[in-house]
Amino acid sequence: MFPAAFDYQAPGTLAEALGVLKQRGDEAKVMAGGQSLIPLLKLRFAQPALVVDIARLPALGKVGRQDGHLTIGALVRHVDIERDRELARSLPILPEAAHWIADPLVRNRGTLAGSVCHADPSGDWGAVLLALNAELVATSAGGQRTIPAGSFFTGPYTTALKPDEIVTEVRIPVVSGASGGSYQKLERKVGDFATVAVAVQVEMNGSKIARAGIGLTAVGPTNIKAVAAEKALAGHEPTSEVIAEAGRLAAGAAEPKDDIRGSAAYKKDVVRVFVQRGLHAALARAKEVRS
Ligand SMILES: Cc1cc2nc3c(=O)[nH]c(=O)nc-3n(C[C@H](O)[C@H](O)[C@H](O)COP(=O)(O)OP(=O)(O)OC[C@H]3O[C@@H](n4cnc5c(N)ncnc54)[C@H](O)[C@@H]3O)c2cc1C
Repeated sequence: MFPAAFDYQAPGTLAEALGVLKQRGDEAKVMAGGQSLIPLLKLRFAQPALVVDIARLPALGKVGRQDGHLTIGALVRHVDIERDRELARSLPILPEAAHWIADPLVRNRGTLAGSVCHADPSGDWGAVLLALNAELVATSAGGQRTIPAGSFFTGPYTTALKPDEIVTEVRIPVVSGASGGSYQKLERKVGDFATVAVAVQVEMNGSKIARAGIGLTAVGPTNIKAVAAEKALAGHEPTSEVIAEAGRLAAGAAEPKDDIRGSAAYKKDVVRVFVQRGLHAALARAKEVRS
């Protein structure tokens, strides 16, 4: 099917892009890699009057560090993260999750920020950002605000973003002590969206877990932050009982549905098992990875 007719603009500066959205944000769609937007246009699920292509804003294509945060620009693609050697050392959950996304064609064009703005509850990045306590920088002609990942997803395919805003950057707090993370994904075949996936990140204080982050994929109307499981880990030695309890609590936070890929009960049990596996992998990495 062909998309419905739309105007197309490809601004050369961020100010220009924001100016266009200030005028026509209500009827416009931003396009980054186009890996979700173009299929939606072709299926006519989205029929914007205007597409604002931000791909010509190279300043948004950088990974950096600023004010105690790792910063990921809006045009940083899945493949950039997958191949980033410094991230493989300091935050291995990021390249690991990137590698699980789709196939090389999608990873070569799709962006992390675009994926999060698309807010598919089966998207992988949402869970990772929840586990990492990330923030999204939303920029409009009127200024900037930061939105915690925990309040960004408001429903399936809906976010806290306003029509005149662009996510210009994702910010992830950098921790100084030992830390580690892992992304565990069950997919029907290579390249599929998740049947269930789990992101786990731990920060250690000696032999105890100082902070744990757990995000869930494809088991609810949005990516879910398993807050009770996170709290049950904080301040504790990672004994097998503590890890098992975190798995049970995370499964309790999941709200999956029966579908062709499995029953709700099965998916909840996958969450339980993956949280335990993810914690073991994250704890092993925390022994070797320092930011
Ligand atoms: C065959 C296939 C398989 C896939 N498999 C997976 C998978 O396994 N796991 C997974 O997580 N994803 C998967 N995806 C989805 C894909 O990874 C992402 O949704 C996609 O990369 C989104 O990024 P993009 O840059 O292409 O965004 P676009 O398609 O350009 O935009 C997506 C949405 O976000 C908005 N948007 C984009 N960037 C911004 C911004 N900076 N500020 C504000 N709004 C913005 C757009 O308006 C649009 O609504 C798959 C996609 C395909 C086509």
